[in-house]
Amino acid sequence: MIHLKCTSGVVMATLKELIKLVKELPEDSFGDVYKIMNDIKEAAEEAKKTAPVVCIQCGEKAVKNGKNDGIQQYICKKCGKSFSERATSAISNSQASDSVWMSVIRDTVSGVSLARTSKDLEISESTVFNMRHKIINAIEQEYLSNPVTLEGACEVDETYLLECEKGSAFPECYHREPRQNGKALKPGLSDEYICLCTSVTSTGKRIARAVNRATPSKDEIEQVFGKRIEDDTLLLVDGNKSYNTMKDRCIVIKTDEEDRVRINRFHSFIKERNSRARGFATKNLNRYAALFAQVFGNQDDAPIKIFELIKNRNKRFISIDGLRSHNLLLL
Ligand SMILES: [Zn+2]
Repeated sequence: MIHLKCTSGVVMATLKELIKLVKELPEDSFGDVYKIMNDIKEAAEEAKKTAPVVCIQCGEKAVKNGKNDGIQQYICKKCGKSFSERATSAISNSQASDSVWMSVIRDTVSGVSLARTSKDLEISESTVFNMRHKIINAIEQEYLSNPVTLEGACEVDETYLLECEKGSAFPECYHREPRQNGKALKPGLSDEYICLCTSVTSTGKRIARAVNRATPSKDEIEQVFGKRIEDDTLLLVDGNKSYNTMKDRCIVIKTDEEDRVRINRFHSFIKERNSRARGFATKNLNRYAALFAQVFGNQDDAPIKIFELIKNRNKRFISIDGLRSHNLLLL
């Protein structure tokens, strides 16, 4: 019998670390390991105290109705509707286990490539791609339905990323030629760049949203920040006059570069992720922007919060076809 000891009381291991460990075990210990893991799984299920599950059709209390591929099923005694524990969540219909979802979330938060996650978890890259986009779509939907307000002194600035046609055939009759070596074709801040409007608030919350190419207009600034202003909002800006559009509702102050340390760190984080991924397809940029706003400075807590978000039965399920066309950056 193998005994697992842990002096600190808490072991944090990712699924891929566990898979690696199991692969390296001597074969004659497989039986013991299987029993231990099964005991842990049963104990965890027993301990899981959830609120009564209600029917997704009539709202009456539903009862357990076996499992399908390890996923709990329910049935309503009143209307007879059957549904899974994931029904109406962002991952409704997914056959992947919670552990696999958690691993894909961790890799998404840490900026691990799709190829790497696919290799580690031994699932196809297209499946990992679809899982990742369901995750970041759920984050974007949450970001849009619960917008961060501009509380107190907020550093505000724009950052720019090169437009990217990744994942699609290069369009015919496009406004530019294909790029060589990932470098801009035109000098300076041209329409080859997508502008991300960003803020870090006094409480450390982040905003990031792309609205257009090159320098944002007053209308675009208003679109991203206008509804987030509060009575005590103080905007620390770099001198871009477009922010003056909000002067009638809050205080706008021009500050030096060194007084906007937090927002510069946020920009460095976004640019580092963008360069590691060799660019994010512009059509998906706002999903990634919402991810970066959620995880910057918060990478330890983020995976569990995102996991709760995608399992929440908040009717945010989106099909693969829906993912391809939903909420894309319109330019
Ligand atoms: Zn019912």
